[in-house]
Amino acid sequence: MTALHAIDLIRKKRDGEDLTAEEIRFLVEGAARETIPEEQLAAWLMAVFLRGLSLAELDTLTTAMRFSGEVLDHRGLGRKTVDKHSTGGVGDKTSFLVAPIAAAAGLADPMISGRALGHTGGTLDKLESIPGYRTSLSLGEMRQLLERHGAFIVGQMKNLVPADRRLYSLRDRTATVENPYLICASIMSKKLAAGLDALVIDVKTGSGAFLRDEDEARYLAALMVETGERAGTRTVAVLTDMSQPLGRTAGNWLEVAEAMALLRNERDPLSEDLREISLILAGWMIHLGGKTASEDAGRRLAEEKLADGSALRVFREMVAAQGGDLAALDAGMAFHRPGLRREFRADRSGFFAAADCTKIGWAVQRLGAGRERAGEPVEAHAGLAMHVKLGAKIETGQVLATLFAEDEARFAEPEHLLREALTIGDQAGSAPPLVREIISAGNKDLFLERRTRP
Ligand code: URA
Repeated sequence: MTALHAIDLIRKKRDGEDLTAEEIRFLVEGAARETIPEEQLAAWLMAVFLRGLSLAELDTLTTAMRFSGEVLDHRGLGRKTVDKHSTGGVGDKTSFLVAPIAAAAGLADPMISGRALGHTGGTLDKLESIPGYRTSLSLGEMRQLLERHGAFIVGQMKNLVPADRRLYSLRDRTATVENPYLICASIMSKKLAAGLDALVIDVKTGSGAFLRDEDEARYLAALMVETGERAGTRTVAVLTDMSQPLGRTAGNWLEVAEAMALLRNERDPLSEDLREISLILAGWMIHLGGKTASEDAGRRLAEEKLADGSALRVFREMVAAQGGDLAALDAGMAFHRPGLRREFRADRSGFFAAADCTKIGWAVQRLGAGRERAGEPVEAHAGLAMHVKLGAKIETGQVLATLFAEDEARFAEPEHLLREALTIGDQAGSAPPLVREIISAGNKDLFLERRTRP
């Protein structure tokens, strides 16, 4: 057998050839064990970004990443395991609602999440804004949480999908995030390592999604459904709108507090889209987990679990079991303690006609909610609260958003980004539909066939 060298494999992919299964496994192992240096992994990621992968390569990559560390085994748990994962959005805090709702409905959600990626926020960064919350648990602790409370939310670790841990952070620094193959392998390796019976993917489309184009988003959805089903996990993708921030807030603590308000059944017109999408996703989880005969019945059960306070109870128990401070959690917005705040006002009247939601996401990250360099800490209380949704009538001088940061110097760039991102026009356009399409085993082939690489 001839020895493999990363440089030969980078060249091969750069020149448009498919890699063999052995070659892909060599690269993934090198990523996980840190035997291949970052510059070579980054060059290979860029070659994949530009050249794409065959379905066979994608399958090998996802499987190798999945088994790069331990995989969870839930035998004997007595509950079906289900999960939801999003392809990344702005203000997307549905995990804090759907995980406890699914658990309250009698399922178990072993959720492995990520940190901020590109312009999108990270579930782990949001959870770490709860003082004391631990995003790394031992396998024994994870099992205990599922048995006692039905849910945990942790991150990739040295022993849990370590290949994604390394590649995820590298992609964030090398402009290789927005690619259907790399997104699919990243998400599905984590989800399959979690040992799921069923999975619901929230595939974002619109100006704040990694894949803005709706057909690209459909292709990504079909790739993930194909990958999940091949591995024996029932997988459904819900294509949802990301042309404006989901809910009212985007930031770390701000998002935890907004989710807590919904778990307490406090309604806010600006959080209604978040509530609606969460119930739809939870409805699918409950249905795929076998608790109801249809997703509509699943949604009704999800609404009951929200209304009767059982989802709130599970979330509080889970946070406490992962070390989080319940007094802070319960305080919600009263615990929001940013150093500085600034109002962002409309410079003309009209209607909120369009949003470049990626720019809004960058504004949130640059306020301090995200990091400039790998490993940097993030600000727990930085971010923004929107006061309008698409289609709203706007008066000159009206406050469109409130910005929060720890340092005066943090405001200039986000304000500039928001000025570019929020379009006030003369026509009252309508907000796009929240759900665009459902992609499942039954229709995925239609979307896979439509696309040729890359
Ligand atoms: N979420 C992930 O876990 N990975 C991606 O690449 C994008 C979103």
